This record gives sequence, structure tokens and C-alpha cells, in this order.
Amino acid sequence: MNDFSISAYRELVGYAVNNFEWASYLGSPPNNAIIWRHDCDFSLSKASEIAAIDHEEGMRSNFFINLHATTYNARSKSGQLIVRSFLDYGHTVGIHLDVAYYGDIWTEDRLAEVLIAEQVQFESHFGLSPKAFSFHNPTNFEMNFLSQTYAGIVNCYSKEFRTDYRYASDSNGYWRHQPISDVMRANSQIPLQVLTHPAWWSIRPFEARERLVQALAHTMFFELSAYDRNLVIYGRENRSDFVDALHLLKGIPEDLQIVFNTLLSFGFIEAALNLAKDEICKRSLDAPNQELLQDFVVILSKKARTEDPIV
Ligand SMILES: [Zn+2]
Repeated sequence: MNDFSISAYRELVGYAVNNFEWASYLGSPPNNAIIWRHDCDFSLSKASEIAAIDHEEGMRSNFFINLHATTYNARSKSGQLIVRSFLDYGHTVGIHLDVAYYGDIWTEDRLAEVLIAEQVQFESHFGLSPKAFSFHNPTNFEMNFLSQTYAGIVNCYSKEFRTDYRYASDSNGYWRHQPISDVMRANSQIPLQVLTHPAWWSIRPFEARERLVQALAHTMFFELSAYDRNLVIYGRENRSDFVDALHLLKGIPEDLQIVFNTLLSFGFIEAALNLAKDEICKRSLDAPNQELLQDFVVILSKKARTEDPIV
């Protein structure tokens, strides 16, 4: 399966729910168990989108959070709300341990010490105590930490998980070992651990790098929406060339809002125009959305005419 669209993801998780028995990282799994794990890299708002889908499809997932991520801040108010929402959905939260941040995890004792310190931070920021951890970007060195637990916290890369479970991962935006559909349909009696990263799933089946850009744009859009909203709340001017156009877009599907926001923010008016016209031609949106896009095209066409085509 090379389709990493959100709709393909929804089918995948639905298939998992219907054909496997959910298991957590604690206790003994049944033979047809599936552990569904998400390592949250790049975008917490994207993880939030996946958490909602998992919940709608009946999957109880395990979201692993990196406290030292460069592209999201789980300890911010919005990050805290997202992490807490995972629990409300019935998912669990684990530690996605960024060993590079510490740079000195050379022994099992030091690993246990760091995990205890992170567990304390999870308790203080999110009011939860993680029971499992996964390494972020593990090197061969980290893969030699083979114990089932450190400081009582389950190691997702333990010897047991690597020998007693089948494994599928979408790392780098593709199923590296075997297509996930083959793995899930193998009719095996060995439990399965599936690792996905929310950032690799996008509304359209782009290639991996483009999906990553979409995930990062998702975070940007999340912040832009808060910015626009606060300007309205506090009665401030929105000093953007595209206020009217962006206002119109509020009603259309979020993925398109993200794309249009990105294009307009970088000044690609013609590209935004062409995309809007394409969407209107495809007629895949409902009538109110079609009308919004028609109005959007009118505004952008006027704007495009005022631009110097050489610049
Ligand atoms: Zn990671």
C-alpha cells in the first residue's frame, strides 16, 4: 500500500479494528493482538487529527510525545490540550525519547534516570504517568537497550517486542519492510505492533517529502487560525492582502484551507487561482463550497490583475 492519504488511513485503521484485538504495551497480548502506536514527530496538530480518526474508527492507540521536539511544543497550552484530548479519546500517552537532546545516554542507569525525569514532567504538564517509551530516531546504539522495561517503563524496542511481535512501520513515509496490507492480511497468529507517524498521512496521496511539508503547514495553519481568531476577538485589523479571500475559505475543507493559506502566504496567487478553478471543475465539493470557491476566484482574479506580472 503506497496510498498515504487520510482516507486510506481510515480504511487501514478500520480494517485493524475489525480483524485484530486491541492490545496495550502492558500485559500479555492475545495471538491476534495489535498494538497501534504513533510516534509524534513534526506536528502535534496532525497527531490530533489522527487521534480523532482512530477514535471514530474504534481504535485505542498509543501516542508517544517528544518533550524536546523542534517543531511543536507539547508543554504549550494548545499542546497540553491536544495531549489531554488523547486520553479523553481513550488512547494512551507514552514518552517519545529524544536521546539526541540529552547526548549522554550511554548506560542503562542513565537511560532509567532520564526516563524517570521525563515521567515527572509528563505528570506535571499533563497529569498523566507514561507507562511506555519509544526512542526518537534510534541509532544502532539505542537499539542495544534490549530490556523490557527501564525504571518500570516499557521499552517499545525491547528484545521481546522485536522477537515475539511482527512489526510494520511507516518511517520515512513508506512501509519499508512489507506493505502494511500484506502484513495485516497474513493470517498470522503472532501479535503485531504497527508504528505510524501522523505527519506521513495527508489529505492527498503525495510522496513522502510533500506530505511532510503538508504536516508542517498543518501546524502553521493551526497557529494562523488562532492569530486570525484573536484579531477578531480583540477588535484588531488583520493586515493581510488576502483577508477577504481567506475569510471566504473558512467554510471549505481544512486541507484546502491549508493549501490556499500556504500559497497565498508565499504570494503564489496564480497557483491558488488555478487550484481553485481545478477544484471547481472537479465538482468534488458540495454546492456551498463550490460557491465559496467561485467567489474566491473572483477576488483573486481582481487581485492578480493588480499585481505586476514581472515581479
Ligand atoms: Zn520520532
